[in-house]
Amino acid sequence: SLPLCFRGERTTWLQPTTLDQFLRRKWEHPEARVVVGNTEVGIEVKFKNMVYPVILAPAFIQELNAVTHKEDGIMFGAACTLSHMGEVLRQAVETLPPHQTEVFLSILEQLRWFAGQQIRNVAAVGGNIMTASPISDLNPVLMAAGCKLTLMDKDGSRVVQMDDGFFTGYRKTVVRPQEILLSIHIPYSKKTQFVCAFKQSPRREDDISIVTAGMSVTFTPGTDVVDDLKLSFGGMAPTTVLAKKTASRLQGRKWGEELLQEACSSLAEEMNLDPSAPGGMVTYRRTLTLSLFYKFYLRVLQKLH
Ligand code: FAD
Repeated sequence: SLPLCFRGERTTWLQPTTLDQFLRRKWEHPEARVVVGNTEVGIEVKFKNMVYPVILAPAFIQELNAVTHKEDGIMFGAACTLSHMGEVLRQAVETLPPHQTEVFLSILEQLRWFAGQQIRNVAAVGGNIMTASPISDLNPVLMAAGCKLTLMDKDGSRVVQMDDGFFTGYRKTVVRPQEILLSIHIPYSKKTQFVCAFKQSPRREDDISIVTAGMSVTFTPGTDVVDDLKLSFGGMAPTTVLAKKTASRLQGRKWGEELLQEACSSLAEEMNLDPSAPGGMVTYRRTLTLSLFYKFYLRVLQKLH
């Protein structure tokens, strides 16, 4: 089928029908804005007076909507809507052994408080990642879970880990102008892994986060000794961040009172905010990182015993 093209006074709208057409267009127009659900770009155009002369709309390309069940997790095309992703994850939770679905359950918990149904029905998972907002509700849990992203340009693809190297600045990522996000791989959790995600916003329903968090701990099998810990926060810096110092301090420690004390003093130091940081509520945000960790600590403790 032929790609659609609409030309207006300010914008040309290109709707490629195949991945190959999309990649070629992005190569020809690296400055083109990719639009899927339009729930970020639409706000920029309407309220921030942004002008995008070329828009590329890949929402109907098969590869970008594919859901592939792999040996170690599920791969979602970047244009999968949040509602669709939620349905697939819910089904996986019903059919897989519980220890494999800790990450999925945490994502479902975030989706529950993510915007409203209308937005979730059109907003894509790739749109949330690529917006690289520091208060994204999904990026912290995707980061803590160790998700992998496949990026592609007309010459080939590369896979990058969704860690703190992926976000390079306020609303910036390592993705090059000619590249697109093809898919995201969300892993199954391991037998000794526990994952939680949290969102604190002024209002429960349909509100912007103050602080969001994704936390994952993996224990040495048969013990309560921390083998791997990832604590990811949104709303504490210009990008989604990992509390790496705290995580490495807690490695090899037993999940108990002493670890909790150490975690709180270390997080207070590491998740610092300048009094003039954008967004305000500095003391409250700093306190939230500790109280969300405390919640995580208790939930894991309950599951361990
Ligand atoms: P679009 O607006 O289509 O695109 C967003 C950005 O991603 C653009 O820069 C685009 O170029 C880029 N992009 C998209 N796909 C690709 C791709 N495949 N390759 C390269 N670049 C790509 N966000 C939250 O985190 N939590 C909320 O609770 C929340 N609530 C909201 C409520 C409302 C009322 C609105 C309007 C927005 C809300 N958002 C929220 C923000 C937004 O809905 C999400 O970020 C959503 O996931 C964006 O997806 P989209 O498909 O609409 O993105």
